Amino acid sequence: MNAELFPKFKDYLGYRGKEARVLDLVLNKFFKTHYDANKKKNEKRRKRDSGVKFKKALDDRTDRFIFLKASMIQAQARGYHCHLTFKREKAERDEVARIKRDQMKSIHIQKLVRKFLARLKVIKMAERIYVKYVDPSTEEPYWSNPRTKVVSWAKPKIFGKFSDVSHPTLLPHKGTEFVIMCVNCNMEIVDLVCQSCDDAYCSSCFNSLHTKGTRKNHKPLNINVCMECDYQLATKTCETCTAQQHKACNYCDVCHKNVHRFEGDGKTKKHNWSWKVQPCVECKDFAARWRCEECQDVYCTACFSKVHKRGSRVNHKCEPLSYYTPTIHDHYEREIREKFRRARKAGDEHEMAMERQRKEFQSARLVQRRFRGFRARKFGRAFLKEERKKVRDKWKQRKKDNLVRVTKKYQALEPLGLAKRLDSDSMEEAVLKRIPILLRRRAKFWIKKNLQDNYWFEENIKDKKKIPKRGFDVGKYEELVEQVRAGGWENGGSEGTTVVCIVLSLKSLPTARSLRSRPSMVGLGCLESTVSSRAKWT
Ligand SMILES: [Zn+2]
Ligand SMILES: [Zn+2]
Ligand SMILES: [Zn+2]
Ligand SMILES: [Zn+2]
Ligand SMILES: [Zn+2]
Ligand SMILES: [Zn+2]
Repeated sequence: MNAELFPKFKDYLGYRGKEARVLDLVLNKFFKTHYDANKKKNEKRRKRDSGVKFKKALDDRTDRFIFLKASMIQAQARGYHCHLTFKREKAERDEVARIKRDQMKSIHIQKLVRKFLARLKVIKMAERIYVKYVDPSTEEPYWSNPRTKVVSWAKPKIFGKFSDVSHPTLLPHKGTEFVIMCVNCNMEIVDLVCQSCDDAYCSSCFNSLHTKGTRKNHKPLNINVCMECDYQLATKTCETCTAQQHKACNYCDVCHKNVHRFEGDGKTKKHNWSWKVQPCVECKDFAARWRCEECQDVYCTACFSKVHKRGSRVNHKCEPLSYYTPTIHDHYEREIREKFRRARKAGDEHEMAMERQRKEFQSARLVQRRFRGFRARKFGRAFLKEERKKVRDKWKQRKKDNLVRVTKKYQALEPLGLAKRLDSDSMEEAVLKRIPILLRRRAKFWIKKNLQDNYWFEENIKDKKKIPKRGFDVGKYEELVEQVRAGGWENGGSEGTTVVCIVLSLKSLPTARSLRSRPSMVGLGCLESTVSSRAKWT
């Protein structure tokens, strides 16, 4: 309806369309008054006019509503503001509390550090005051306070769990203390060392032994007792202590270690000291007490037993030492060198003697050789002359005998084995001539296999240079004739003159029948069989 009444109406107070038309209807049509509300003459009209009343009620309601909302906004703003203030104040309070807490913590830490440093200082002080000893027999430590004279086997509580006296004071081992008796009387402790005799004596013994001869000129050296313990003999001299205390500071090994136990801890400087005796070659801490002849070294007791505990060193011979100064050790070393030199010289001389002998033998052999050569040549010439003559004679004889050989009688008898022996016949010819010509080849075959008995057995060979005879050279004419008559494979031999060895394998020993069919298995010429048994035929 509104739209139909006011179709052209479009904008009102920023609203458009329907809303604008409703606003316009309410504000400009319903609530339209034609009077000025502030003028008195219009009072009655105003009161009568309901639109004004409504408008006023609406205004009041709007005011109340706005007032309510404003109060709410204000309350919220106040709340927010309070919240912020509370938050800020809380942060400030926390900050203060934190700073306070930190301060407490740092105070606590400082307290602990101060406590720790103080403890360290006290322990350092206690370390300098307390003395820790190690009992040499039980190796148990004990602590002593020289100021209060209190000695305890338990560690003083002031050191706590982890600290202790850093350098325990050593005590000399019972039985191995450096206390040396006089080599002469063995009753008194030594006072003087004579570096010419290389021995230490008590003063009375030294005086009694050095009264005569060259000994009178021997100059002894004083032996000091340790200034700390006044018991063991001094082995070391400290130049720094001497300079500081304005008196000769001689210590034994143990006291030297105890006196200088703070050396090298940063505060105490290293002292200059020197040995009065020869130190142990192994540890270089203690004076040498033993000398090993095999090792040619000097050791303290502990090191000596440690080094010579096992192996071949167990058998080394040792010698206990008296007060053993470096000079005495030098004398010993010089002596050893001298001994070596002498031994080497003796070795060289022996070698030279051997060489000389060898040369003598060589020349003697040369002379003998020359002499033998000379003699042999002299004999040989005559021998060769004789031999040549023999050959010539033989040839002459053969020539003479050849005249017999061409005779009809000889040629008739020879093939039958009946021809007589001629002087120029060789052994082979002479022997074979005794049997008919048809049998000769076979007999020769077997006789050629004859071997001298020592050809076969090592133990029979007397002269190895000798060539064993074989064939027709073995045996005498008569024996060979017998053999050739038997067919060559059997040697009858004669009792007591020939030894014939037959070696046969017993397994392959032929039966009587096979022997007959294989005659070559027996006799001198059939020795190829396995060597296992030996029979002696005489
Ligand atoms: Zn003595
Ligand atoms: Zn002397
Ligand atoms: Zn001492
Ligand atoms: Zn010193
Ligand atoms: Zn040692
Ligand atoms: Zn040794």
